[in-house]
Amino acid sequence: MISTKAYAAQSPTTDLAPWSFDRRDVGPHDVQIDIQFCGVCHSDLHQIRNEWFPGIFPMVPGHEIVGRISQVGDHVKKFQVGDLAGVGCMVDSCQVCENCRAGEEQYCLEGNTQTYNNLDRSGVPTYGGYSTTIVMREEFVVRVPETLDLAATAPLLCAGITTYSPLRYWKVGKGHKLAVVGLGGLGHMGVKFGVAFGAEVTVLSTSPSKEADAEALGAHHFVVTSDEEQVKAVQGSFDFILDTVAADHDVPLYLSLLKTSGTHILVGAPPKPMEIPAFALIPGRKSVSGSTIGGIAETQEMLNFCAEHNIVSDIELINIQDITNAYERMIKGDVRYRFVIDIASL
Ligand code: NAP
Ligand code: ZN
Repeated sequence: MISTKAYAAQSPTTDLAPWSFDRRDVGPHDVQIDIQFCGVCHSDLHQIRNEWFPGIFPMVPGHEIVGRISQVGDHVKKFQVGDLAGVGCMVDSCQVCENCRAGEEQYCLEGNTQTYNNLDRSGVPTYGGYSTTIVMREEFVVRVPETLDLAATAPLLCAGITTYSPLRYWKVGKGHKLAVVGLGGLGHMGVKFGVAFGAEVTVLSTSPSKEADAEALGAHHFVVTSDEEQVKAVQGSFDFILDTVAADHDVPLYLSLLKTSGTHILVGAPPKPMEIPAFALIPGRKSVSGSTIGGIAETQEMLNFCAEHNIVSDIELINIQDITNAYERMIKGDVRYRFVIDIASL
């Protein structure tokens, strides 16, 4: 077994604190990665607080992982010791269902194995990237370009792919008006990708103080959603809305901003169900849809795209001892625009 240092929540009501556990030994198809940086996703907070469903405790969050390969199993083909590697939200899937065979392991019909707060396929709890090292099958590891800033690359493994994948699926690009709701971890990556794909991008935000940042990220317009006049001015104007909000919010209001036949794409996952009147959709043939992360091949494609276009996340690097404060700021919408943990601080 491989002894591993981590930060864990012991229950949904306790703060993260130091904890140690053992990872499995490296099997023939496994690699071991020494983790250097791990991004802090709002999903980490939802899960340690049991906001979605009862979790598995102790819980070690973290699914935006980058580091170097330190060991490879005998049958590993893709990686060598020393390679830069990344891990996102999944560490396994059935590999044989229709969706897995189509490269969409995130939609595995048996359910993919999540990087943490899940049981692996032999029934052992999975633990995430707020830890010194991880052991996992090589198929779910992606190659991280050496040219990008490594700490700022970590968030691409979740915030990046979660926004890249739906924009690609719906072919959002030149000639489209895209609105991104919520300028946080996912939202700021949605802006960067929307702009890179050629769309005209508007940020819909609750925070007037983020306007200059939105512009710096490449957004063409900025709307403060508490300002009725500003909202009125963009009624019926968007082809797509990418909704990254983590809390309860007025989805029908956003639906009124779509053009006829427009699509509202939910990637944010508020804990409570949302109410959508039929008449918010019917008169304009509007759709509400959802999307989760992306497949492994698409995650690699996204990283390569980022290397080519020099796209990374805008980050605040923190020590793991600062995690509770980072969560508090995240709840207030005060993330500029992703916290990343320097795992050396562990
Ligand atoms: P985040 O950094 O906290 O960003 C969320 C942003 O939403 C905030 O910065 C804020 O931006 C806005 N916001 C917050 N409360 C709001 C409210 N009541 N009404 C309207 N806007 C509000 O979170 P994140 O890490 O980007 O994650 C966002 C959501 O996506 C979470 O629910 C997370 O679990 C989910 N997620 C889903 C997937 C997936 O696969 N689908 C993957 C990762 C994360 P402004 O200040 O600009 O308003
Ligand atoms: Zn995430």
